[in-house]
Amino acid sequence: MRKIFFAILIASGLFACQQNPANKKDSQNPNEHLVMATLWYQRASECRALYYQAFNAAKLSLDKQLAIPSDKSKPKAVVVDIDETVLDNSPFETNSIRRGKSYSSAAWKEWTDMAKAQATPGALEFLKYAESKGVETFYISNRDTTATKKTLQNLKELGFPFADEAHILLKTNTSVKTVRRNKVSETHDILILAGDNVGDFDEILEDRSENYGFGKVDSMKDLFGGKFIVLPNPMYGSWERQILKSDKKLNADEKEKLRVKRLVGYEEI
Ligand SMILES: [Mg+2]
Repeated sequence: MRKIFFAILIASGLFACQQNPANKKDSQNPNEHLVMATLWYQRASECRALYYQAFNAAKLSLDKQLAIPSDKSKPKAVVVDIDETVLDNSPFETNSIRRGKSYSSAAWKEWTDMAKAQATPGALEFLKYAESKGVETFYISNRDTTATKKTLQNLKELGFPFADEAHILLKTNTSVKTVRRNKVSETHDILILAGDNVGDFDEILEDRSENYGFGKVDSMKDLFGGKFIVLPNPMYGSWERQILKSDKKLNADEKEKLRVKRLVGYEEI
């Protein structure tokens, strides 16, 4: 009788493991590394405070720049990225972790079509403040153009200003945002750029081939907190490409080994 009981217990345990990818061995879940990053983003007050800090700096910078007499021929604008800048997509990361699935454009579309992302802390207040000062907002994002309608719906429902076709520039053929920034510059004087990826500010910063791009960031250090406003995102970003750079296609285990290898430890300082 006891043998049968244990056999059922083991079988049901195996069944549960098959049903829930989170129960698999750590190395088999491709999103294990995202758990702490996503928890920090969603549950650490420090993350929330950093968003407020960034948008408070943006407000100060805007006031300072508006006080300087300038060329009045162009209307003034703020350029913001969307994901993890004004919209919080962390529930998508949670979903990926719980499903045990790597990123896919189909899964991302499923999320963006829901138009349920929440505003990041302080974003709405800042952009409404800019609007009250006669400053327009342009949304430059690497969401695909097929997501235009749902993205605008999401922004509009949250009350974001200038959430219309004339103020949104999504990705067509390149994730580099220079052409789209230049397009805004033709008609508007850009006072502030906000984003969670340094590529949101200047194309020069896209190049991380040498020492993770640190030198490039150092060369522009005076602009951060002024014209450039950075938001925290530990979950993903272009920075990962440099971490996972390899000549071959990596599986989940190999990626995890590379992440550990890229850490700075006693030997590397
Ligand atoms: Mg972003």
